[in-house]
Amino acid sequence: MNILLATSEAVPFAKTGGLADVCGALPIEIARLGHEVAVVMPAFRQTFQAGQSIEPTGVELSIPIGRKTVAGTVLRSHLPGSDVPVYLIDQPGYFDRPGLYQQDGKDYIDNCERFVFFSRAVLEIIEQLQLPVDIVHANDWQTGLVPAYLKLEYAGVPRYEHIRSILTIHNMAYQGNFWHWDMLLTGLDWKYFNWQQMEFFGNLNLLKTGLVFADYLTTVSPRYAQEIQTPEHGCGLEGVLSQRRHALTGIINGVDYRQWNPATDQHLAAQYDAGNFRQGKPVCKQALQAELGLPQEADTPLIGFVGRLVDQKGLDLITQLLKDTLATNHVQWAILGTGEAKYHELLPTLAARFPHRLATRLEFSDALAHRIEAGADIFMMPSRFEPCGLNQLYSLRYGTVPLVRATGGLADSITNATAENLAAGTANGFSFQTYSTAALGETLDRALAAYREPATWQKIVKTGMTQDWSWARSARQYIDLYEEALHAPELSRT
Ligand code: ADP
Repeated sequence: MNILLATSEAVPFAKTGGLADVCGALPIEIARLGHEVAVVMPAFRQTFQAGQSIEPTGVELSIPIGRKTVAGTVLRSHLPGSDVPVYLIDQPGYFDRPGLYQQDGKDYIDNCERFVFFSRAVLEIIEQLQLPVDIVHANDWQTGLVPAYLKLEYAGVPRYEHIRSILTIHNMAYQGNFWHWDMLLTGLDWKYFNWQQMEFFGNLNLLKTGLVFADYLTTVSPRYAQEIQTPEHGCGLEGVLSQRRHALTGIINGVDYRQWNPATDQHLAAQYDAGNFRQGKPVCKQALQAELGLPQEADTPLIGFVGRLVDQKGLDLITQLLKDTLATNHVQWAILGTGEAKYHELLPTLAARFPHRLATRLEFSDALAHRIEAGADIFMMPSRFEPCGLNQLYSLRYGTVPLVRATGGLADSITNATAENLAAGTANGFSFQTYSTAALGETLDRALAAYREPATWQKIVKTGMTQDWSWARSARQYIDLYEEALHAPELSRT
């Protein structure tokens, strides 16, 4: 099969979150399983700083955007360590900017236009580069228009008529909602601007557009696939998702163990695996404490957090817990992230009051993310919702016990350390249900009690470290779905 994966992020070319990890790793695994796959993404400013060789293809694009035509070019690179081509859509006016989607916390005002351009370019390069494509695999709202253009503008066009589309939802909370006049930029007929297709309460909604027009839908964990059909997690699109439930599957993300493996990780002070973590992890912990200016106490539990500082990630619970316990609890915290202004204000204030207990780094640092994964004892993810979550999977391999709220992919991957699960040898972390500081605090107390029992703790660590969350299994599920899509009648509602 020939697959074209369209995304706005892929490691190492551009990243703001898990989407980039998925789109940088899944294609390599699909290729390894014997299929032809290529990635297409925008050429952001970040992309040119990734240290990869990038060449011109000679292809020039003329893309209609409303009444104007916008020119662009196509560059070519590849995913490191593979032959997977990456086509980069270069349009400096749209993409040569400091941020991917926003600057100083504000979305770019022309985001709709930028991703209309990109979505049209995705389909144009198929003809221009003569790419054989059976499946276009779109990801998130940025490519939500791709299935719509395919269905509405390319129906019956020779190189396109057999192509099936799949849209993967990485996070329902980000939908690409724009004012209705942006409909003009799409070039699509106003008749599609109705509540069953592209409209969402008077706005143009690009994720909804994708959900309606794609042949198949996936999301990044089985639990989240169920959750998004409910008002609590559907973010207003639960109705569309329930109607399309027969086309919707949950496939859990995998881990790229070439990037996230403590046995080979060059960011660490010591490398280790499931056989020698008792020697390696303390070295990493001590180095992390030194790096962050925390007292180098081997026996004090160190709690790590890496992620976007937004309510989704349970930051309101974490900050409340910090306020309640920093003065009394004998633990250390290492927090790495960027996000909402209120957390950028609060966290350093707390760190200044309790410098021996809390270290914060409010920046994006892949290297430090690796060192926190290795040096911490407990990894904190009390998310309000979590489509899949990757950090808990990284933590498992790094022997850092995840403490999570049982939602979405966290529920699918973390088995709570109850007496029963411990006896069965399946416990790999700690989890709780109710979204409250009290529940988080109780669970942390439970984890700290286990930490003080080395035999129990090491059993939990070892269970996590020896589990296999690699892409192999999940990539096979995507391939099965691609095959089903190619051979089944069209499923979209149009
Ligand atoms: P989401 O996609 O919702 O942000 P995931 O857990 O799926 O969450 O993926 C987050 C990815 O982004 C992980 O690879 C994580 O290590 C990385 N990440 C998030 N914030 C930072 C940061 N400040 N510095 C380095 N890496 C980060």
